Amino acid sequence: MENAGVKALAEILVKNKGRAVALTGAGISTESGIPDFRSPGTGLWNRIDPMEYLSVEALYARPETFWKYFAEIFGPTLEAEPNAGHLALAKLETAGYITGVITQNIDGLHQKAGSRTVFEVHGHLRTVHCQSCGRTYPLTEALARLKNEPIPHCPECGGRLRPDVVLFGDMMPVAFTQAVAAVERSSLVLVVGSSLTVSPANSLAFRTPHLAIINREPTPADGRADVVIREGAGETLSAVLKELGLA
Ligand code: NAD
Repeated sequence: MENAGVKALAEILVKNKGRAVALTGAGISTESGIPDFRSPGTGLWNRIDPMEYLSVEALYARPETFWKYFAEIFGPTLEAEPNAGHLALAKLETAGYITGVITQNIDGLHQKAGSRTVFEVHGHLRTVHCQSCGRTYPLTEALARLKNEPIPHCPECGGRLRPDVVLFGDMMPVAFTQAVAAVERSSLVLVVGSSLTVSPANSLAFRTPHLAIINREPTPADGRADVVIREGAGETLSAVLKELGLA
């Protein structure tokens, strides 16, 4: 663990206390056993092209394949538990350092860890909705239906169900507008576990006067960051909590 980086991160959090917001990506959840997209060797991208299989186009043109991959990739995620990184961000919010978390993740682990203000800019895995009548159901119900039908249908009207996640090609939800406002109210964005390559969520890292990044691989925003730590999210954030006297 690189001590100078941890000290610098703690310092910038103190300087921007109450005016900072976290921006997380799939990298914060790899320590909970959920593969990200781009980590070399283990990321989903090594197996499939998510832009092809998890897109609006795939949902409409190849719904059976879409649901097969969606269930295979994200079904196990429903059982995951938060790790030290998620718990540390919840603590930083409770202690008043950050005002909340903007997450690109759909796994719900920030809420499970106790974060109260969470902007889910790519939706979530809690529910699906019917594309015909709009009724909402738990995702678990749709996944259970897949045992008997290749595409899950609405039990009320027979319309097709779709997950409440933002697929490649979808419009951004209102949570994204709220996230932009949260960044504009802040003076520091703390990026944790994101390659900052998915647009427009990555643009949030370019709208802030101060930027800190914890990510194992380099990101396109490293050059404008005040602090960059290329280590694991859980151990880094745990060390920052210690430095701040919160652990
Ligand atoms: P990404 O896969 O593009 O990048 C993840 C980054 O995290 C990589 O650069 C990797 O080096 C880094 N990383 C991995 N493990 C780490 C760790 N333990 N500590 C620190 N860094 C670590 O992810 P992204 O930027 O979030 O973009 C991918 C898109 O995929 C997002 O839209 C996200 O919604 C979606 N996605 C979500 C989940 C989830 O909900 N958990 C999982 C896979 C993909």
